[in-house]
Amino acid sequence: MPHELPPLPYDYAALEPFIDAETMKIHHDKHHQAYINNLNAALANHPDLAAKSVDDLISGLADVPEEIRGAVRNNGGGHSNHTAFWNLMGPVGSDGVGGAPTGAIAAAITADFGDFEAFKKTFNETTAKQFGSGWGWLVCSGGKLKILTTANQDSPLTHGLYPILGNDVWEHAYYLKYQNARPKYLEAWWSVVNWHEVNKRYAVVKG
Ligand code: MN
Repeated sequence: MPHELPPLPYDYAALEPFIDAETMKIHHDKHHQAYINNLNAALANHPDLAAKSVDDLISGLADVPEEIRGAVRNNGGGHSNHTAFWNLMGPVGSDGVGGAPTGAIAAAITADFGDFEAFKKTFNETTAKQFGSGWGWLVCSGGKLKILTTANQDSPLTHGLYPILGNDVWEHAYYLKYQNARPKYLEAWWSVVNWHEVNKRYAVVKG
């Protein structure tokens, strides 16, 4: 079955005023849909690969035939990254959204970064410096939390790392509201982070 656009798990306006409804509508309905359309087109003549989940596909990019590897890397990455991203955010004012982290991830952040403010600062500074389009990520490697960035739609999954938290710093994610001020978007974004989802993803890593 072809890959399909998952519905946004909240209204377009649910992240206002931090992320505007128009950005969310274009980002989800147009950008994410385009990655899915292009992924399906790339897989059209590869029924064996079309049966795999998108995360399996980009975790095993080396097994994807060379003639479609670039398309799967970019568009499969785009599909996987955005599917995680929508769920990693939640309606402003909801339980577990914004504010300080909760649960096991809160303890891990304190253990590995000192405190939440220090973590946030490092995440924002690292991600602000990603040259051009890409993502900032929180992953777990060797039992420790680590912050890294990837270019374009590259996924940590391709490097054997499960994304616990990720923020999209393509201009399409923030330009309508923040224009060139990526650091302002990065700062505002913490107000919509869904710590329940971050803890769910952290549990996958911790087992
Ligand atoms: Mn995006």
